[in-house]
Amino acid sequence: MMTTETAGTISFHIDGVWERPASRSLHPVINPATGATIAEVPYAEEADIDRAVRAAHEAFLRWRDVPVVDRVQVLYRYKTLLEERQDEVAAILTRENGKTTADAKAEVRRGIQMVEVACGMPSLMMGDSLNDVAHEIDSKTIRQPLGVCAGITPFNFPAMVPMWMYPFAIACGNTFVLKPSEKVPLTPTRVVELLSDAGLPAGVMSLVHGDKQAVDALLHHPLVKAVSFVGSTPVAKYIYATAGAEGKRVQALGGAKNHLVVMRDADIGKTVDAIIGSAFGAAGERCLAGSVLVPVGEAAGPLLERLVKRTRSLVVGDGAKPGVEMGPLVTSDHCRRVRSYIDKGVAEGAQLLCDGRENRTSDGGFFLGPTIFDHVTPQMSIGREEIFGPVLSVMRVPTLDDAIQLVNRSPFGNATSIFTASGKAAREYASRIEVGMVGVNVGVAAPMAFFPFAGWKNSFFGDLHAHGKDAVHFYTEQKVILSRWF
Ligand code: NAD
Repeated sequence: MMTTETAGTISFHIDGVWERPASRSLHPVINPATGATIAEVPYAEEADIDRAVRAAHEAFLRWRDVPVVDRVQVLYRYKTLLEERQDEVAAILTRENGKTTADAKAEVRRGIQMVEVACGMPSLMMGDSLNDVAHEIDSKTIRQPLGVCAGITPFNFPAMVPMWMYPFAIACGNTFVLKPSEKVPLTPTRVVELLSDAGLPAGVMSLVHGDKQAVDALLHHPLVKAVSFVGSTPVAKYIYATAGAEGKRVQALGGAKNHLVVMRDADIGKTVDAIIGSAFGAAGERCLAGSVLVPVGEAAGPLLERLVKRTRSLVVGDGAKPGVEMGPLVTSDHCRRVRSYIDKGVAEGAQLLCDGRENRTSDGGFFLGPTIFDHVTPQMSIGREEIFGPVLSVMRVPTLDDAIQLVNRSPFGNATSIFTASGKAAREYASRIEVGMVGVNVGVAAPMAFFPFAGWKNSFFGDLHAHGKDAVHFYTEQKVILSRWF
């Protein structure tokens, strides 16, 4: 069996067997901090997906009958294994994704919290009951698993985002086929290895790698009953439409353009720290990253002065090295794309306060420094589109009402934050804003595992969100039983 420590060619995990498919096309996995190839990933073909799904279906016929209290024992052991191995998983994550060791460890911790919540499935899956709904007739609801569920995940959280899905799906009695991002296949491979080590029966969790061809095979496979997707908005829309047309249950989480609103009465020191973490943490490659800063009225002057000073002092480099605060972008293509947005911002007339193109870090990696633009308008591409890099656009507005209107005009609705000392302003903002996750004096409004990840508008397609109680509802079907005994 290949392990992620030895890298080489990465395997599929189908029906409990680690297979290295020699004849499939191989693609490099690259360390973005050095540009070095660290492994090769095979892309699954339709026949591989068919084998994985059929094996998962056979496993489902047995796994659904395992009592839920026994199913979660595997997850308890898994949580322990993940905790023992969290530093190793974080190191793999940094090596293929680029985020700093601190960010990688925080991600793994968030993933473990998903497993912890899924361990509560015996309580979470309980139905309702009412006796004597009619003369001597009792009624109850039960929740039953769906069958084979598929997960398709992005490059930016290769440990946590898959764990938004499979611990919940498996604890509910489903089996799961994961197709992670082809850019970062090592981390998902390691966490699936640990799940096998925890004693999960063969076929309950499968792992396949690949691109659109593998995804399409999952979307059209008749034995796949539900699809969980996290990635960019155009692909999320495609997944929602395609799997929906096949009659599957779908949750498709898309991209974002998150606004951070700052009132004049905000605590400037703490707010600057929160903005730095939100805009430049994980090099801005987070769907919860703050990407537009909206100072209200007089807030802009003191805020920008401190923000620019702090931004210029950020240490950019290999995320595995101590003291580094921001790592590289994930690929050279993505780095070029983000850079081109900075060029566009200049051409569109925004004022550069910090220019990330001046960053001299190299080591062969895909580095870009943190960038701040002032006087951005909603019409400019940097103010409108998801950049997914360390670029912060400042849009000044005169009043809170203007800030609310500006944010509500965005086609995205993933997350937003307000910084203020006024409970009234915070309350008004949280209530009127058309965004699913709202932070008050919190830079990254990431819900904990027991709450839903609640994006709106073009940031989410579906009804039931990821994790929390929504995940239990997504991965189960309800049945209502009426009984009368003579
Ligand atoms: P992506 O959409 O390019 O890829 C996501 C997944 O879809 C990958 O597994 C990829 O192989 C697959 N894929 C890509 N193109 C496809 C196609 N044409 N047909 C079928 N499958 C396809 O996203 P990414 O670049 O890996 O991740 C970054 C994006 O993810 C950003 O837009 C970010 O905002 C978003 N994201 C959203 C959330 C959220 O919770 N809303 C969380 C994390 C990331």
